Amino acid sequence: MSNKYVYYFGNGEADGSTEMKNLLGGKGANLAEMINIGLPVPPGFTITTEVCTYYDKNNGKYPEGLETQVEENVKKLEEVMGKKFNDKDNPLLVSVRSGAPISMPGMMDTVLNLGLNDQTVEALAKMSNNERFAYDSYRRFIQMFGNVVMGIEGEKVEEPIQNMKIAKKVSQDTELTAEDLKELVENLKEVVRKEAGRDFPQDPKQQLWDSISAVFGSWNTERAIVYRKINKIPDTLGTAVNIVAMVFGNLGNDSGTGVAFTRNPSTGEKGIYGEYLSNAQGEDVVAGIRTPLPITKEEGGDDSLEVIFPGPYKELLNVSSILENHFKDMQDMEFTIENRKLWMLQTRTGKRTARAAVKVAIDLVKEGLIDEETAILRVDPASLDQLLHPMIDPNAKKEIIGKGLPASPGAASGKVVFNAEDAEKYAEKGEKVLLVRIETSPEDIKGMNAAEGILTARGGMTSHAAVVARGMGKSCVAGCNDITIDYSKKLFVGINGIVVKEFDYISLDGSTGEVILGNVPKVEPELSGDFTTLMQWADKYRKLGIRTNADTGHDSQVARNFGAEGIGLCRTEHMFFDEERIKAVREMILSETVEERKKALAKIKPMQKSDFKEIFTVMKGLPVTVRLLDPPLHEFLPHTDEEIKALSEEMGVSVENLVEKNESLKELNPMLGHRGCRLGITYPEIYDMQVEAILEAACELSKEGVAVKPEIMIPLVDFSSELKFFKERIEIISKEIFEKLNIEIPFMVGTMIEMPRAALTADQIAEYAQFFSFGTNDLTQTTLGISRDDAGKFLKYYIDDKIISTDPFMSVDIDGVGQLVKIAKEKGRSVKENLKLGVCGEHGGDPASIEFFNSIGLNYVSCSPYRVPIARLAAAQSAIKEG
Ligand code: ADP
Ligand code: MG
Ligand code: MG
Repeated sequence: MSNKYVYYFGNGEADGSTEMKNLLGGKGANLAEMINIGLPVPPGFTITTEVCTYYDKNNGKYPEGLETQVEENVKKLEEVMGKKFNDKDNPLLVSVRSGAPISMPGMMDTVLNLGLNDQTVEALAKMSNNERFAYDSYRRFIQMFGNVVMGIEGEKVEEPIQNMKIAKKVSQDTELTAEDLKELVENLKEVVRKEAGRDFPQDPKQQLWDSISAVFGSWNTERAIVYRKINKIPDTLGTAVNIVAMVFGNLGNDSGTGVAFTRNPSTGEKGIYGEYLSNAQGEDVVAGIRTPLPITKEEGGDDSLEVIFPGPYKELLNVSSILENHFKDMQDMEFTIENRKLWMLQTRTGKRTARAAVKVAIDLVKEGLIDEETAILRVDPASLDQLLHPMIDPNAKKEIIGKGLPASPGAASGKVVFNAEDAEKYAEKGEKVLLVRIETSPEDIKGMNAAEGILTARGGMTSHAAVVARGMGKSCVAGCNDITIDYSKKLFVGINGIVVKEFDYISLDGSTGEVILGNVPKVEPELSGDFTTLMQWADKYRKLGIRTNADTGHDSQVARNFGAEGIGLCRTEHMFFDEERIKAVREMILSETVEERKKALAKIKPMQKSDFKEIFTVMKGLPVTVRLLDPPLHEFLPHTDEEIKALSEEMGVSVENLVEKNESLKELNPMLGHRGCRLGITYPEIYDMQVEAILEAACELSKEGVAVKPEIMIPLVDFSSELKFFKERIEIISKEIFEKLNIEIPFMVGTMIEMPRAALTADQIAEYAQFFSFGTNDLTQTTLGISRDDAGKFLKYYIDDKIISTDPFMSVDIDGVGQLVKIAKEKGRSVKENLKLGVCGEHGGDPASIEFFNSIGLNYVSCSPYRVPIARLAAAQSAIKEG
């Protein structure tokens, strides 16, 4: 016997269940599950993802036995429905729907009303006593089949309808009569013949197999591949095909179709939330053909589903609560009403904004449906970014040029572009762009990903633009009727006739739906009580400490507000760029003698000291790791002729002298050059000054009663003897200061492990270090031999061609860099049991990297202030998953 490739569902019995998502796809598994829990779902069957994989590998061939199994299931469907394919009295109609294990909205298209042909359409008309309905279904079928299965461009099959509407002087599809639609069917068949070079197939069995092949084939369309890449979905999963008996939302005004969430996907508020259209079918709701109406009376008043379809509304509420109790999460449902009877056509876990994710997770714990650990695992750490990012300053002056639907929250500003390719092109050049479209389609996905935000003139809260933007965490204003877009002139006109041209700046407020002229100022967001609760829960479970990378009082404060437990990396060089200071720094660099250099350093010291005081004060006794000067000195000198001339005049140094100095500091490989502690070896007085500034600041504050915990970090160490050299100097300096100021404070000396040699000789280095902080940025550069600043040119090909799966500068390269970190940890700890270990590279804010650092038992990770909550949550998830 051959394998089971087809799973039946219907009339209270189903072969599948929700656990079988990998085999049946999300849609198929959940259709089966809904049957299992007694919900009204039209019968049908699912062809497994295994068939897709087979089809892929065997150039479009099917496994043996599939055909028979499909035949058997069609027969079963015919019996249950009491209808037959191609029957001239009572024809069976079905939909053919794709459905991958992970939901890919809009990626693969559905064919509805399959089984219609010139004969069965007449039967349908007679049966329903509704000729208009029959021909409306038929024209939809030819249109979808022509587009999805026969590959005719969407515009080509849309054209005859537009033409018909113009000819009949109507604006809505629903206003076309049965006669109009009959004529339309003929026109569409003509388009098919012309565009596809063959006739629209009349045989339902052929229609079915053609559609099945089209669904399997669509797994490898460019837009599906791009979507999978952006969302990190493996190409090997494959899609299932669902064949489902049709129910009709386009039978007239007692019918309709809609989509609904069990809770509000923007805010997380409990209660059904969605949209519907009466006398409509399939994707009419999301396609923006007519503007859909709200489900609840509260939102939609007398037009709402609640008022117009009270019976089905009540039943939908009931289904909604059954589904939530069963799946223990917010659901996204698709339904159709046929002659006032509710049919469920899909349910899945609802996509939501970060704000909603946090609220729903907390509420479900309160409602007793899930526990704290599950709630923590429910929120994607990276998505918190949406909550932490600035919003439009409420006090800013705003010139509002339009108002649409608040489709995806957060503020965004950028230069207007009118198509996805331009968005990609200019974003690649480093421009901030906003994508402005009449509506978006799946082909636009790359451009949407590249844009800061998305504005559409048409479509509802569940339109393609809105759904995709929410998934990406991008600001989106959808359905903004106030603007009129002219693609050919590359401009749009907003309220009061204000014209916005390509590359003009506008801002979007995705939380209010406002479209604003110019680049509007933004402010820090206020975090909700639920957010705080979630963070508190996360802190209970995580093992990793979370610090921040900050070198100003302001950043330190932001990070503290977000829950940072210390500073893991305070870079000192940024403090030098202030206009006042850079002068003294340049004096220091241009010094010919040690004496001159010391004089210049004496000017810098009080400034550094006051910076450290500010940071220590904000951090109130939390550890602060200060890294001594790291970058090569030429970074502080001017390079253009004009700047050099100005400096020469200012400092009374000849231009030639400056040029010569620049020349002498020039390096072929600055990344591997005279920098880090190598500067401290050649100019010890620079590091001496910094150590003095740190310790004096700490002592003086301590005297004032402010707790301080400084940690001095030596960068770029290769040899333990380098560290020994500094350790001894620091000991002498600290003794002097403690004596002079008559106070002694505890402090630590440690090093950044960022060179492979240092990692491999970590036992030797640990003799002189009280802590290691893994500088994974440089460690990645030096381990892979890839310069981060040059990687942009080639690394993307590595990722596109799947030579590597992730950018090693974003997620730590576990097999290389990760192993070095592990070796250094083991060697270091073998010498000093209580050696403190942290990470201060960018990877400290990346959830996947955090999982690795957690698994090898480091003490803390450090990340930029805005990523602190992300790191807290990611660390908790890692600890929970580890068990
Ligand atoms: P997607 O994966 O894009 O959500 P679906 O397969 O869910 O596509 O189909 C889209 C819509 O088509 C459904 O929401 C539903 O309105 C309609 N549809 C699909 N199958 C049927 C059916 N058997 N009867 C009536 N409508 C259907
Ligand atoms: Mg679709
Ligand atoms: Mg669907």
